[in-house]
Amino acid sequence: MYSPFKYGAPRFLVRFMVALSWPLIIAGKKFSSYPVLRFVINPFFKRPYNEVTSIPINVNLELPASVPLPRTVLMRLVSEIDQKFILDTCICRHHNKVSSPPPGIGCMALGPAIRRMHPSHGRNVSTAEALAHIERASAAGLIANVAHVWIDPVAFWTTFRDLMFICFCDDTNCMYRTHMKKRGPNLDRAYKRLPGISFSADADICNGCGICLNTCFVNAIEMKNGKASITDDCKGCGRCAEVCPEKAVTMTLDNQGELFLQLVFRVNSVADIPELKKYKKEQNNRNG
Ligand code: SF4
Ligand code: SF4
Repeated sequence: MYSPFKYGAPRFLVRFMVALSWPLIIAGKKFSSYPVLRFVINPFFKRPYNEVTSIPINVNLELPASVPLPRTVLMRLVSEIDQKFILDTCICRHHNKVSSPPPGIGCMALGPAIRRMHPSHGRNVSTAEALAHIERASAAGLIANVAHVWIDPVAFWTTFRDLMFICFCDDTNCMYRTHMKKRGPNLDRAYKRLPGISFSADADICNGCGICLNTCFVNAIEMKNGKASITDDCKGCGRCAEVCPEKAVTMTLDNQGELFLQLVFRVNSVADIPELKKYKKEQNNRNG
């Protein structure tokens, strides 16, 4: 028997709310850079109520053994958090009625608020199950987005700071990744690259085909003298490296410890996940 006191909204209700709010959010993203309109729209995309960090779990570049893939860093974060819940299906791909990539690769919810997740959404999982889920998402070419966005606690009826999501996103269906090319300033600030990850295109290898330009969801790649050049607008998702036929795009990474800490600091600044509180001291020291 469903009880609103024990659990949040069941799956049919969340899907209904997503269907109602989807056109509004897409319209808000599209118009967030328009004069006048942006002053009305941009508060809805403001930090700390919106923050999304790309983790390029899809990139499998050849790196020295000492350099970890971002996937490893994400797995370490997930391993540290006790409360994990996997949704049976991706809400965005379900909304858009697509079956590829596999709809079974749903988002992962983390933190104390998962005790409010209605069982119709999915299940609590062990660390081993969560890591296997990340591997499956990576093999399907999906990008991980560590997200703390106001619409999630509203939809699932949970407290705001107790809930984080890791979404596994494609290019054409994700509410976070689509309609970002003409984003307003707050939307731009809300979607961030993880410090320590950067991408660059090698002009000696690039043949100027333009595939990466068309793929980049934030228009962060320009053509200079017929060669691709990645700008500071890059959000670090890794899709350009994945699609480049010449393997001209290189990912540069800090060491694993630093990347991991940067990810933890990012989470700690917007959410209260008990297992990550031990890193607060280090974070405060660095912030002076
Ligand atoms: S996809 Fe690769 S080869 Fe083509 S323009 Fe981009 S970096 Fe250059
Ligand atoms: S340039 Fe664009 S596609 Fe490439 S990593 Fe940055 S945001 Fe992603």
